[in-house]
Amino acid sequence: MQERIVVAKFGGTSVADAGQFRKIRAIVQSDPERRYIVVSAPGKRFSDDRKVTDLLLDCYEKAAAGASFEDELAQIRARYQAIIDGLGLQFPLDQELETLAQSLKNEPARDYCASRGEYLTAKIMADYLGFTFVDPAWCVCFDEDGQLNAEMTARTMRASLLPLKYAVIAGFYGADMKGQIRTFERGGSDITGSLAACAVNAALYENWTDVSGLYAADPRIVKDPETVAYMSYRELRTLSYMGASVLHSDAVLSASEMEIPINIRNTNRPEDAGTMVVRHLPPKVVKSPVTGVSGRRGMSVIQIEKVMVSDGSGFSAKVLDILKERQLPFEYCLTGIDAITLVIRSGLLDSCKEDLLVEIQATLHPDFVSVRDHLSLIAVTGEKGTESSDANVRVLERLTDEGIEISTINQGAGKLNLLVGVPEERYEDAIKAIYGIRSEITH
Ligand code: ASP
Repeated sequence: MQERIVVAKFGGTSVADAGQFRKIRAIVQSDPERRYIVVSAPGKRFSDDRKVTDLLLDCYEKAAAGASFEDELAQIRARYQAIIDGLGLQFPLDQELETLAQSLKNEPARDYCASRGEYLTAKIMADYLGFTFVDPAWCVCFDEDGQLNAEMTARTMRASLLPLKYAVIAGFYGADMKGQIRTFERGGSDITGSLAACAVNAALYENWTDVSGLYAADPRIVKDPETVAYMSYRELRTLSYMGASVLHSDAVLSASEMEIPINIRNTNRPEDAGTMVVRHLPPKVVKSPVTGVSGRRGMSVIQIEKVMVSDGSGFSAKVLDILKERQLPFEYCLTGIDAITLVIRSGLLDSCKEDLLVEIQATLHPDFVSVRDHLSLIAVTGEKGTESSDANVRVLERLTDEGIEISTINQGAGKLNLLVGVPEERYEDAIKAIYGIRSEITH
C-alpha cells in the first residue's frame, strides 16, 4: 500500500518575504507526510505592494516595446535578495536574473518571463528546505495550442515526483513539446498543486493562503463572516465562480475527479483547521443548508417575449444559436410559456447590444424584447439547501421584507443553487440579509 502523501501548495502571500518562508518551513517540518510543496511567486506584502508576476509582466511589455526594463528588474532583484539574505542563503540570483535579462533583450517571450517568479521562488524554497527542485517544464505538458495535456502531465509528473522523497515544484507553468514555456491563467499555481496531488494520488491537497478557509459571505460586505468547515467540490466551484476567489476553479475540478480532499489553510494561522472540501460529508457533521452566499455585479437581463415560445418550434434553440454564433456566453437562460429570459454579463453585452437586438428582431420576430441593466446575480449555495428545508422561501421572504426587488429567480432541478437577480444598488443589502438568516435556517 502506498504511504500517505500530502501535497501542499503555498500561494503568493505565503511566500511574500523571508518571514513567510520561515512559517512555511515550520509547517512543512511539522508533518513528514507533506512531501511535495508547490509554490507561487511572491505576492503583495501590503496593500499597494506589487506582485512579482506583475513586475515580470511589466518587464516583458517594456522589452517587447524595445524600452528599458531595468527599473522593474531592479525591484524584482530587491524582492528576492531580501528573501535570500533574510534566510541566510547563498543563491546565485545575479546569474539567474542575467539569464532572464538576456532572453528579454534577445527574444522576449511573455509566458517564459511571467513564469520566472515561480521558478525562482521554488528554487530558493528547495534550497531553504533541503528538498529537490522540480522544474514543471519537465513534467507539466502543454499541447502546441497552449492547452494542458492532462494525460501526459499525469504520467510525467508521477514519474518525476514519486522517486523523490521530498520536492518543491514551481507552480503556474509547464512547457509544450518544443520546450517553450507555457503558463496557466493568472492564479494558476493552484492548478499545478492539484495536478501534482492527482499525479501522486495524494491523500490530501492542502492549499495554504492568507485566510482560514472559505467564508460563508464576502468579508468586505459582511462583518466577520463564518468560515465554512466542510463543503462539497460542487459548492466550492459555484462559490468560486460567483466571486469567492480562494481557489482556481480548474484546480477544484481535477481534485474532485480523483476525489482528493482539498484543505484550505492559513499560513499565518496554522492552528486553524480551515475549510475541508470533500465529495461526501463525514458522518455526524451537521451544516446549515445554506453553505454560502456569493454574487456578481454587472449583469443584464434580456427578456424575449413571443406567444407560446415553448411549443416545440425550436424558438429557444434559435436564440441560443444566435448567442453561440457571436460567442457570447450567458449566465443562465430560462424558458417560460411566452418568454425567454437570458442573463448575460453587461461587460460582454455592451459592445454588441444594439446589433444583437437587431438580429433577434430580424430572425425571430418576437412580440417584444426588453433589456434591463445594472443588476446583480446572487447565488445562495447549499448542497442540501433547498430539498430539505424551507431555505428558498426564507430567502425570498427576507428579501421582500427588506424591500429588495427580485427581478429574476432560477433554481433549476439541481437544487445546489438558488440564483436571484436584484438591483445592483441593493446588492450588499441582499447579501447581508441572506447571510443574516443563514444560521436560522435548519434542516
Ligand atoms: N504568480 C501567478 C499570479 O500571480 C500565479 C499564481 O500565483 O498562482 O497569477
